[in-house]
Amino acid sequence: MKYKRILLKLSGEALMGDEGYGIDPKRLEQYAQEIKKVKDLGLEIAIVIGGGNIFRGIQAEGAGIDRVQGDYMGMLATVINGMAVQGVLENHGMYTRLMSGFKIEQVCEPFIRRRAIRHLEKGRVVIFGAGIGNPYFTTDSTASLRAIEIEADVVLKGTRVDGVYTADPEKDADAKRYSKISFQEVYEKGLNVMDMTAFTLCQENDLPIIVFDMNKPGNLLDLVNGEKVGTLIQS
Ligand code: UDP
Repeated sequence: MKYKRILLKLSGEALMGDEGYGIDPKRLEQYAQEIKKVKDLGLEIAIVIGGGNIFRGIQAEGAGIDRVQGDYMGMLATVINGMAVQGVLENHGMYTRLMSGFKIEQVCEPFIRRRAIRHLEKGRVVIFGAGIGNPYFTTDSTASLRAIEIEADVVLKGTRVDGVYTADPEKDADAKRYSKISFQEVYEKGLNVMDMTAFTLCQENDLPIIVFDMNKPGNLLDLVNGEKVGTLIQS
């Protein structure tokens, strides 16, 4: 197998499926099935889930709420999503731990790096909730940072597009997908993969990123089996 330990980043927005807000049970179930296929191969899996389906810090500004307060609201949204993912994964017979970037003791363990690694070694799926635990960051940055901390082999960014394109494929019919691209090229061409903090963390730590379509059944499995799925970004 190509990878032993992966970090899967799922956006909160993807979780809302066709619902427009919140969590779509059908999408949640689909993700659990996809993750189970990979877990059954014996891979160690860590997950970072976004919160955009519930709240983003930036929304606070338009609502007369302080930005930092809004960011904490966004972080709490990722905990709600993390609990949902945890619930459905356990329903599929997987063992899980939800670890939080700040203390929410009744529902999550605090993030302790050595402990997270131990959970992974024992075959538990580890979900990182509440982001990094600090405002002004994103869950993409959380994914990069946690992946480096737990020494993951790769960050798998599951989105609704099947990779990185020369232009926005939803707006430009001539846009072409890269199957492979270097960090430097992404930077020079100004392509949108992750926010710069998240992206730079991966680049500086030589951690490859694969952007792929998480909504296509079997894609995640094909990817970890070494098939060419999505766009690989590496040094
Ligand atoms: N957030 C934060 N610090 C973090 C991670 C997230 O403040 O370390 C907040 C931020 O307000 C962000 C929100 O949580 O807008 C939800 O995360 P994100 O927007 O990354 O979710 P996604 O776009 O992946 O659904």
